[in-house]
Amino acid sequence: MIPPAPALPASRRRPLLVWLAVMAFALAALGAAFWHYRQRQAETFAEGATLHRILSQRVDQHDAHLTSLAALTQIADPPPLDAIGQVATSIKRFYPRIVEVDLIDLMHEDKAGLLGGETPPPSAYTAARGSTAILTLAPLPAQERLMLLKRVPATAGAQYIIVVQLDVRRLIEAERVPPGRSRIQLTFEGLPLLFAPPMEGLFSVTYAAPLASRTQPLYLEVEHPIGLADLFVWNELLLLALLIAMAAYAADRLIAARQAAKEAGARAVLATQDARLAHASRVNAMGELASGIAHELTQPLTAILSQCQAGQRLAARDVLDRPALQAAFEASARNAKRAGDILGRLRAWVTKGQPSVEDVDLVATVGDVVQMIGQERESLSVEILIRPERPVIVVRADRVQMEQVIFNLIRNGLDALRCVAHAGRITIWVGVTGGQAEIHVIDNGPGLDPATAARLFEPFFTTKPEGMGLGLSLCTTLIERVGGAIEARNAEGGGAEFVVRLPLAHARLAETRATEWPREAAE
Ligand code: ADP
Repeated sequence: MIPPAPALPASRRRPLLVWLAVMAFALAALGAAFWHYRQRQAETFAEGATLHRILSQRVDQHDAHLTSLAALTQIADPPPLDAIGQVATSIKRFYPRIVEVDLIDLMHEDKAGLLGGETPPPSAYTAARGSTAILTLAPLPAQERLMLLKRVPATAGAQYIIVVQLDVRRLIEAERVPPGRSRIQLTFEGLPLLFAPPMEGLFSVTYAAPLASRTQPLYLEVEHPIGLADLFVWNELLLLALLIAMAAYAADRLIAARQAAKEAGARAVLATQDARLAHASRVNAMGELASGIAHELTQPLTAILSQCQAGQRLAARDVLDRPALQAAFEASARNAKRAGDILGRLRAWVTKGQPSVEDVDLVATVGDVVQMIGQERESLSVEILIRPERPVIVVRADRVQMEQVIFNLIRNGLDALRCVAHAGRITIWVGVTGGQAEIHVIDNGPGLDPATAARLFEPFFTTKPEGMGLGLSLCTTLIERVGGAIEARNAEGGGAEFVVRLPLAHARLAETRATEWPREAAE
């Protein structure tokens, strides 16, 4: 039999699909992680931009406060401390981030602030005096504060400095920006103004930009930590795994269905080829069968002739013996039918091309085949015993092909017996074992030597001068096609034994064990 077109078997396809699914899952998980990373980045940038806008507006307000306080300081000499103090108080009330407002007289450095607030650290004086900027920034990182120092008047020989102290933490507080897990930092000349805990997470995304202020060069940083749980969301991964598993399963089913369709097509082509081969082989066997068939036909034809002659004689009598005449007609009709049956079988044997599956009684089929080769058996003085343990053993198969299998096995047995000196015998047992129909064809010929036994079923293997070596390979194809199997071994008492097993459709009578019968047959 030509093997069907090679297809990826499930045992290799499944691991491949699993591998592909795992790869797809890994890629999808990485893709999702990247998407989450980009989301976090976008969120952090949006959060940072909002905070940046708010803080820039807030620090602009400081410029406005300082300008108004400076103007008030210069109204009179000495400055109107009461009025300045009132303005400072209202500024602190409305802007809680402004924690101190004071006025320092540079001519009296030893004095505390003129408005009676906390004494500013000496660094404030140094910073303000050394600077020519409109506004001088002096950070107090230990207190998370920032001092804004403005000289009044804004010249090198200024007499006063307005000191405004900012609470940096309150400065960055913004209702519209949810604090979340982001870390917000303000730096002045690289110096962080806030205490910040170390970042958690694997890595972080950062928004960083200087505040839009001409006078207060502060730098804003919004940093968002990213951990594994941010990148790989379990629900999402589970859903992904489920979808990919479903897709892999669907692909497996689809490939299996396509392969099955392909194999069915290939099998159909093979079946046609095998049927042609089987037919050719049967036509080839016709020569061997001719004498058997002629012999088979002789009997009913002779019977018809004698019954017709008897009828003629009965009809010629004066007194008509109706029952005898009727019996003669019936007998010749019966024999004509038998002859018709033999010819019908012969016709089926030769003409049938396409196999058709039907109920086939193996006992009857073996009987028919033995009858067909009857003549040859007699000339070889071979005894064929059919041992049906049950009268009816039915399988689903093509009748002519089953006949052909049995014919090939018996013919091989007959061939093997041609060269033996002793009386040849072929025993055929038809029975049921383990729920399967079995046909055993056993001869008492030379048996199978190991070299022959190993190659028996190979196409074109033959040890006969006239042989084609196709009989047994054809038998294998025909038997396997209907779900059966064939095997060969040496029989216990010498000779070869061929066993054909077929799925049983139904049988009558109790099962007989195959081990019982060869002993009986030998008796
Ligand atoms: P062929 O009959 O044309 O040789 P087969 O395929 O039917 O082809 O048989 C292949 C070979 O198997 C035979 O040539 C023969 O050597 C061996 N063989 C088959 N049946 C028997 C048997 N009953 N006893 C011994 N040898 C056998």
